[in-house]
Formats: sequence, structure tokens, C-alpha cells
Amino acid sequence: MLSAVARGQWGWFHPCARLSVRMSSTGIDQKGILAERVAVVTGSTSGIGFAIARRLAQDGAHVVISSRKQQNVDRAAAQLQREGLSVAGIVCHVGKAEDRERLVATALEHCGGVDFLVCCAGVNPLVGSTLGTSEQIWDKILNVNVKSPALLLSQLLPYMEKRKGAVTLVSSVAAYFPRMELGVYNVSKTALLALTRTLALELAPKDMRVNCLVPGVIKTDFSKVLHGNESLLKYLRECLQMQRIGEPEDCAGVVSFLCSPDASYITGENIAVAGFSSRL
Ligand code: NAP
Repeated sequence: MLSAVARGQWGWFHPCARLSVRMSSTGIDQKGILAERVAVVTGSTSGIGFAIARRLAQDGAHVVISSRKQQNVDRAAAQLQREGLSVAGIVCHVGKAEDRERLVATALEHCGGVDFLVCCAGVNPLVGSTLGTSEQIWDKILNVNVKSPALLLSQLLPYMEKRKGAVTLVSSVAAYFPRMELGVYNVSKTALLALTRTLALELAPKDMRVNCLVPGVIKTDFSKVLHGNESLLKYLRECLQMQRIGEPEDCAGVVSFLCSPDASYITGENIAVAGFSSRL
């Protein structure tokens, strides 16, 4: 459904993207360490996913951004294209099979393949206990947070394996320090640690890597209930050795690194970006 795809004034991709340059063990690449690579990032029209998409594009990748709402896709794609980055956008609710199929088809049609998958989309529709959660909410959280990364990857696998691709899942420190009010969300984010290890095991023979970003409290709409409350914010800062909550950009460089050749022997790892919290 091409109408669901955002096009900028340069068409699908802007070939002269502004690129950051990083020294790698393989030398300096003037075009960016991810030049000519293609990244698909889910849940990437705001917050952590948006910062990751921007950073991968700044490092040279063509990036396909996506989320549920057309207006968010259009706004985010236009913003990154205005920055001269090579980005296209398409609507994809990761919990819907037909949306995942369209995302895969779009990436293949317009980019010719996929090197990196970053699964950032995640939901927490309920604040409450695990045992008080309805079956419908259980299904929604597990479907979006846990099943969808695996199902999307299985659809992309035939193409990614040709290019020895890399995958990054996005968990949460709630996996290590479950919070009372986060119930099933804690469970889903812990399951992602297991999914990371299991996929890393299964894909290592194909020379594909799977790692996991584990954010702490990062200032986004998703965590507004935490950082929007002054007394809670004060408590959070006191819990963090770095005495600040994170910004989405704090999560972006590590994902670029995990995609890059510098991380060629790193797989099955969970990397916390959490300002060192010994208690939450
Ligand atoms: P955010 O700012 O609210 O952004 C969420 C993004 O995901 C939006 O682009 C949203 O756009 C999209 N989205 C939501 N549901 C989706 C779905 N079913 N399918 C596809 N896209 C969907 O949230 P965030 O804080 O960046 O969170 C991103 C990830 O980080 C989540 O997995 C979350 O669990 C994890 N995380 C966040 C924090 C934190 O403190 N912020 C901490 C630990 C882990 P649409 O509304 O258009 O779909």
C-alpha cells in the first residue's frame, strides 16, 4: 500500500545524507560506518526508536522507519529527510501480520535487502498487577513486545542472512528490577532477554548477531508517568548514580555500534543504558 509510505522532496531516499564519521577497527570510512547498509527500525517515529533511526542514518545507513499512525510516520520521515538523511517511512503496527508483511515488502522493493533490524516498538497498556491482568491484555503485551520481533525477523531472515545481518531487541531495566505496577510488562521485557539469547544461538551459525538494548528511565512520552511527576523524578535521580534520567540519544550510539563491524564478535549480549541504577 504505497499511500502508506512517506516520501520526502528527494523521493524515497536522499542519496547525499549528512553522515557522521567514526573510526573503526577497519579504518575511517568517510561515508559513515554503516554506509550502503539498510536498517529497519520498528516503533521509530518518536522517542528511543526515532533517536536510533536518526543515528543509524547519520552513520550512513538507509533507514526504514515505521509506527502505527500515518501522521506520525509522515512527520518523522519529513523531519529526518529535512536533515538530509536517507529515510523512508511506512505504517506498521508490529502486532499485525499484514503490516509486517508490507514493511518487509517495502524495505525489499526500495532498498533491495535488509542488513539491520531494530525492534523498538513496545507497549504497556495497563498499570497493574500481573494476576489482575485480563487475558486480552496479556495477549496484547506479549504479542507486541515479545512475539512480533521474532515473527518480523523470521519474515526478514531469508534476506538478512544473505547479508550477515544484525538484530537489536529493546528490553528494559524492568527485566532486572521488576516494578510492582508494571506487571506483565516486566514479564515481557524479561522474555526479551531470553529471546535475545535464543535467537543469538540459532543465528550464530549464519554469522548473524542478536543483541539487546536495555534502557533505564529515558525521557519519552512512554515514561511521562515517571518523569512528569516532580517527586517521583527526584526519587529516580537519587536512585541513579549518574543523577539524571536518560535522553533517547543516550540509547542511539550503542545500537549503531552493535550494528557496525566493530561489534562483529558480540552476540547474545544485553547492554544496559541506565545511568547505573542499583535500586529502582
Ligand atoms: P515512545 O516515545 O512512546 O515511542 C513509541 C514509538 O513506538 C512511537 O513511534 C509509536 O508510534 C510506536 N509504537 C507504539 N506501539 C506500536 C506498535 N504496536 N507497533 C509499531 N509501533 C508502535 O516510547 P519509548 O520510550 O521510545 O519506548 C520505546 C521502547 O523502549 C519500548 O519498547 C519501551 O518498552 C522501551 N523502554 C522505554 C523506556 C523509557 O523509559 N522510555 C525504558 C525502558 C524500555 P505510534 O503511536 O504511531 O505507533
